[in-house]
Amino acid sequence: NEVDRVLAPPQPPLTFADVGGLEEIKQQIRKRIILPFQKPSLFERFKKKAGGGILLYGPPGCGKTLLARATAGECGATFYNIAISDILDMYIGESERKLHALFEKARQTTPAVLFFDELEALAAKRQFSREGTSAKLVSQFLAEMDGFAQNNAGVLILGATNTPWAIDPAFRRPGRFDRVLFVPPPDAVAREEILKLLIKDRPQESNLDLGFVVKHTSAFSGADLANVVETASDSAIERSLAQGTEAPITSADLKGALKEVKPTALEW
Ligand code: ATP
Repeated sequence: NEVDRVLAPPQPPLTFADVGGLEEIKQQIRKRIILPFQKPSLFERFKKKAGGGILLYGPPGCGKTLLARATAGECGATFYNIAISDILDMYIGESERKLHALFEKARQTTPAVLFFDELEALAAKRQFSREGTSAKLVSQFLAEMDGFAQNNAGVLILGATNTPWAIDPAFRRPGRFDRVLFVPPPDAVAREEILKLLIKDRPQESNLDLGFVVKHTSAFSGADLANVVETASDSAIERSLAQGTEAPITSADLKGALKEVKPTALEW
């Protein structure tokens, strides 16, 4: 059906162990999101508001999507990954219908995490707004989120954006995206963790010089690091093919990859 067409095929669940670095934000998410989600009655007893959404922001490729997926995994929730551009439809009323169907699907399969990527494509202040969105779609989205008419219990709503300054304040009111978390570019410790995660299941020589890579990637995003590891893997594959036996990734492969891969995070 149409909801399944909007959604990417389900992927195996992740946990926070699959996300390198970002310890502080993982802790915030545990305390402020996962626990209230798992123990709503306890939090209600202490007059803590349930519901509402969390907005993740930061430079591209630094783990917002990964974190959202891992948050769902940590909650044992179904993960729905929705790019706003997938909802937009040229036919009048269709975008609103698709959006409603997505929320309904999530409400029927709780616990569920609804993750809206590129939120600025929908939630932009007027001067930033793009073609294809309408005031009607915006108010539909806010109504679904507010959950006046419907029950959003067990549905956690996450949004992500690279341009938080472009988000209309109406989206940030209580009960909407009222919690905002910055997902920073990885520091040296995080880069080492990310590299280890990326490389752990690939053939590699012992004592790979990850320290060298960490030292020379200060402006790299997690996605850039993934690019480095992919490029190093390509070299090892090429060598394997040439010599007819499996050649593991070497420190030289990684150093070679560093000459090719340029960081993208700085553009933010
Ligand atoms: P965008 O704003 O472009 O949507 P994003 O912040 O959502 O980016 P992700 O899609 O989560 O970024 O990350 C892209 C890829 O980079 C991941 O699939 C993963 O391979 C790698 N990556 C980024 N950050 C991390 C991290 N903290 N730990 C492990 N891998 C990471």
